[in-house]
Amino acid sequence: VVLAASSGGLVAYADSKSDAESSQNAPKKKVVVLGTGWAGTTFLKNIDSSLYDVQIISPRNYFAFTPLLPSVTCGTVEPRSIVEPIRRVVNKKGADIKFWEAECFKIDPTNKKIHCHSDIGTNLDGTGEFVVDYDYLVIAVGARSNTFNTPGVEEHCHFLKEIEDAQKIRRSVMDCFERASLPYLSEEEQKRNLHFVVVGGGPTGVEFAAELHDFVSEDLSKLYPAIRDLVKISVIEAGGHILTMFDKRITKFAEEKFQRDGIEVKTGYKVVKVSDSLITMQNASAGEVSVPYGMAVWSTGIGTRPFILNFMKQIGQGNRRVLATDEWLRVRECEDVYAIGDCATITQRKVMEDISAIFKVADKDNSGTLTVKEIQDILEDICIRYPQVELYLKSKQMRGIADLIKDAKGDIQKESIELNIEEFKKALANVDSQVKNLPATAQVAAQQGNYLARCFNKMKYSDENPEGPLRIRESGRHRFRPFRYKHFGQFAPLGGEQAAAQLPGDWISIGHSTQWLWYSVYASKQVSWRTRALVVSDWMRRFIFGRDSSC
Ligand code: FAD
Ligand code: MG
Ligand code: MG
Ligand code: MG
Ligand code: MG
Repeated sequence: VVLAASSGGLVAYADSKSDAESSQNAPKKKVVVLGTGWAGTTFLKNIDSSLYDVQIISPRNYFAFTPLLPSVTCGTVEPRSIVEPIRRVVNKKGADIKFWEAECFKIDPTNKKIHCHSDIGTNLDGTGEFVVDYDYLVIAVGARSNTFNTPGVEEHCHFLKEIEDAQKIRRSVMDCFERASLPYLSEEEQKRNLHFVVVGGGPTGVEFAAELHDFVSEDLSKLYPAIRDLVKISVIEAGGHILTMFDKRITKFAEEKFQRDGIEVKTGYKVVKVSDSLITMQNASAGEVSVPYGMAVWSTGIGTRPFILNFMKQIGQGNRRVLATDEWLRVRECEDVYAIGDCATITQRKVMEDISAIFKVADKDNSGTLTVKEIQDILEDICIRYPQVELYLKSKQMRGIADLIKDAKGDIQKESIELNIEEFKKALANVDSQVKNLPATAQVAAQQGNYLARCFNKMKYSDENPEGPLRIRESGRHRFRPFRYKHFGQFAPLGGEQAAAQLPGDWISIGHSTQWLWYSVYASKQVSWRTRALVVSDWMRRFIFGRDSSC
């Protein structure tokens, strides 16, 4: 059995014996992974390195557990506790995986090469640049912080994306307190230094504001009694509310809690300019206002990295803002390149584009009409290939196909129902409205890394046009199902040992017990026992001794 077709695709063959045979004869295919974040690391942990020659390239030689980054900004958790060296992950998998600390700056899909640059050492021509060949490329480079080209942000604001950012914020908070304590500062200057501004009311911004408030009220107010009353924390949000991706009950609770805590929430304000001491924002009724500040954290969303934008231009995606993949996470219009995590988005194929073909597949007896049974037989496959159908049925509270048909045909007795193509189209006319983009979260990135590794491992990943409708189980052989995201819920820590959680099935929980749930979930999600032990001991140290304020 041939392992890979000449097209370079991974062809599906179930016979494991012949797989082993062929892998002895053919040289292993090169899989190059860009990035050691959530997506890249999860891929790496799950890929079978005996089947491929795996190489990883990333400017960071470690994985960082980003959900605990806000805790690092105030010293609740130490930076070392939430990072895992990528070489440890590699070592656990055996010696076959190579890692290079470098940054990719250009992808050349025509020649299947990537161009990289290393900051830490130069080669003979003195540049630190090198080229790597690939058979399959997995892009998992994440996203960058988005400033929306607001002047001054790059120079004067902190971002909260990497470990270094969190460490810089921690130092900057302490600097503001020490500066405000100097003997020669006016009260006005003291107040300015102690005004901490968070731009963006999303989960990261809100969590940071809550964390900072705890740090100030639990630790710093004791150490800086003379200036503690001058501290102010503001959250500036352009939309009408903070935490809009959560249920309204959580948003309301968070806004009320922040108000009680004295954290100012300014909604409806858009920051338009930042200077070294002033933040200027615009509001529909108040017009332009400028406020003095000591430190600002910019957390308004993410954008595509420049070298990915260039790559998109090369492959004809220049008119898009985010790299597009199909439902198998293959970059569209680019053979053998895959993209996972925050750097890409899945463009889900529409039912309506394939409706005639679906009809043909379903109409087994070629009668030109579909019976209830014919539709029933194919519905599961439709739902796998087009997840929006299931979402649609749920949103309309339809129990199944009978309701769908009734909807299309009006109320008719079930037994005699048959649909012609026009009626079938009508029944499914609105399902595509349910197509949704997945959020840019660690949960999505990790599931995609895991899914793609399993596809590579089973070698059932077919490149022979799985695009078409309902070829999932063709010829008795199970093809790889499209990626399907499973949502396990989301937390919002709100400070004061309180958190909110929104779990699947519209289940909301808010308060102290939710904070304990948060502790246990995040302890269990750690990538290794080593980091788990470190994080838990950091939490205990904080409970007993408080946070460290030396920086
Ligand atoms: P990243 O994890 O960002 O990894 C990108 C990797 O690519 C990095 O290793 C980077 O060094 C590398 N890289 C960058 N450029 C290049 C290049 N040119 N060449 C090679 N490598 C490159 N999600 C949740 O689900 N729950 C949470 O509670 C949560 N909290 C968060 C809190 C904060 C403060 C932040 C910033 C994010 C949080 N997220 C959370 C989101 C989550 O971190 C991201 O969705 C996730 O990291 C995306 O994974 P990724 O692998 O796509 O990108
Ligand atoms: Mg990654
Ligand atoms: Mg990460
Ligand atoms: Mg994505
Ligand atoms: Mg028929």
